[in-house]
Amino acid sequence: MSLGLELKDLEELTSKAKQIQDNVLKEILTLNANTEYLQQFLHGSNDKELFKKNVPVVSYEDMKPYIEGVANGEPSNVISGGPITRFLRSSGTSGGKQKIFPVNDMYSEKLGYVFALRSLVMSKNFGDNVTKKGKKLEFLYTRPESTTPSGLPVSTVFTSFFISDYFKNRPSKGIPRYTSPDQVILCPDNKQSLYCHLLCGLIQKDEVVRIGATFAYALVLAINFLEDHWKELCSNIRSGHISDWITDLNCRNSVSAILGGPNPELADVIEQECSHKSWEGVITRVWPKATIIESIFTGQMAQYIPIVEFYSNKLPLVSTTYGSSESTFGMNVNPLDKPQDVSYTFVPNIDYFEFLPVGYEGDMTSNIVDLVNVKLGCYYEPVVTNYFGLHRYLIGDILQVTGFYNRTPQCRFVRRKNVVLSVVTETTTEEDLLKALAHATLVLESSDLMLVGFTCYADIFTFPGHYVFYWELKGKDVNDVVKLDKNILVECCYALEESFDALYRRLRSRAGLIGALEIRVVQQGTFDSLMEYFISQGGSIAQYKTPICISSSEALAVLENKEETVHPFGLMKERPPLTISLLVQFFLLALIGITVNQGFYLLGLAYASPTFASAMRNSVPAIAIIMACTLKYLNLLISRKFLLKE
Ligand code: AMP
Repeated sequence: MSLGLELKDLEELTSKAKQIQDNVLKEILTLNANTEYLQQFLHGSNDKELFKKNVPVVSYEDMKPYIEGVANGEPSNVISGGPITRFLRSSGTSGGKQKIFPVNDMYSEKLGYVFALRSLVMSKNFGDNVTKKGKKLEFLYTRPESTTPSGLPVSTVFTSFFISDYFKNRPSKGIPRYTSPDQVILCPDNKQSLYCHLLCGLIQKDEVVRIGATFAYALVLAINFLEDHWKELCSNIRSGHISDWITDLNCRNSVSAILGGPNPELADVIEQECSHKSWEGVITRVWPKATIIESIFTGQMAQYIPIVEFYSNKLPLVSTTYGSSESTFGMNVNPLDKPQDVSYTFVPNIDYFEFLPVGYEGDMTSNIVDLVNVKLGCYYEPVVTNYFGLHRYLIGDILQVTGFYNRTPQCRFVRRKNVVLSVVTETTTEEDLLKALAHATLVLESSDLMLVGFTCYADIFTFPGHYVFYWELKGKDVNDVVKLDKNILVECCYALEESFDALYRRLRSRAGLIGALEIRVVQQGTFDSLMEYFISQGGSIAQYKTPICISSSEALAVLENKEETVHPFGLMKERPPLTISLLVQFFLLALIGITVNQGFYLLGLAYASPTFASAMRNSVPAIAIIMACTLKYLNLLISRKFLLKE
């Protein structure tokens, strides 16, 4: 793929999307026509119409025997015409289990191509001062590879990219100048790597114009780490000596070269900025020339927008790319869009993309549409055919078409397909949960607390089943001890429940089939432990996405182990203590409600007739409502709109 790219290439690509997609499909089918997998459907043909008619739409389970066959030593041509030289491991945090996907060097070249295109768009929007002259502090990581039984390496997308020849010999055009040397990115110990990223970023602080990480979580992790380690980092800069626990020699030597010698003046400046009581705007204080924050802030990562805005004094947050281990789909051509409004433009020469409408009826193959035929406003699941053996593979994301860049669709990431909470018959999707969370975060703003981590699950083992939210909170000021305000948390519960749909509210309030939502506040650092748990399962920080919903019992155990306080507030769940005054009230109620009531009933019966007494008894509810309205009790309930609104 040519790297002598110019902006007009993007125009051409997106204007000729249909023709380019047809060529891509022809190329893929010609390459793979004789694989064992495609032979059964196409009998050696590379015809598009036959492909559309015969090749089924599949999920991972359908492809697993073929993929595992190659991983276990069968030849690549079981699924791929080109050589399979490695496998990419998906993060497994959004969709459940980790999966592996066959690829070769071409994958990194294509990823690099999208980065190069993206870089042109960034230059156009932010100017060369930001994209070419300054440096980028980017928290990038790799993880040690494992191997398949047949000896092929297995790694994450970013590991495979950073160890690739493409990255080693990278063109100066597409990839920014990083503050960290490659040895820091390639360090297998992520903690040492993070420390060195920060050290390099601090030493060159006045050159840093961009700050980034692949997913927003990694950015928040880095700032939290700075909060815990800034004194040590400053002492390293002051003395010119790197802490002894940085034992990775490549990392140590390369960072020493950047550190040079002792620099007490710089250490003083950084110390002054980091010792503020509040860490609000810390990014802009420490890196005053930083103009943009680049990461992925859409989908699951939307939960980190408020905290990154807090740390960065609302610098523009640029959501960059949409991709996965299966393919790189698209990039953001309007980097100045607010993170909530971002859409990704598909890049038509990467792979062959089709779209399955959400809620289709009938069989999948007759419903699927080509990239250029999607309809504005409609929701789809992308289906990819790539060069390495995936044919019509369902990605598991739901996107909405928000517009077209020339002839190429732009899509908003809506949610993962299978991420839903459900207790009875309601389905609360990832998008619903994030919207509700945004409302609850507004309530939280009135306190001194910030939400730094969140996930949830549906507890269906108690009756009535209910939603459990795990929250990690942090004080806005560095030394603040997190003081939980019960009332604020109750309001947050209301805000969450009020944001859910009518069915949820009906099941919750009328039918009582869903119990009160719970917020469990976990100890600080719990969400880092959760990340460590997922990384220990083979994931990577670079690819980690805090799961919105948790189903694995091991992951839940990480949260439960760390639980500090349980807040089973929700509506009507809180019981006041049994006081003397309450006992007196119970006594009076029993006296009036049962004894006096029965007494009057019998008296009425003696003065009137049994027919009259029965008629009066049936009108009691109506009289009660009239009295409740007169005494304003009903208004009170209506104002607590959750209880009555549908
Ligand atoms: P993985 O296969 O581990 O690389 O994860 C890929 C998944 O990450 C995608 O299928 C999406 O669900 C999610 N993802 C990737 N890029 C974005 C993005 N820009 N916005 C939201 N979610 C994303």
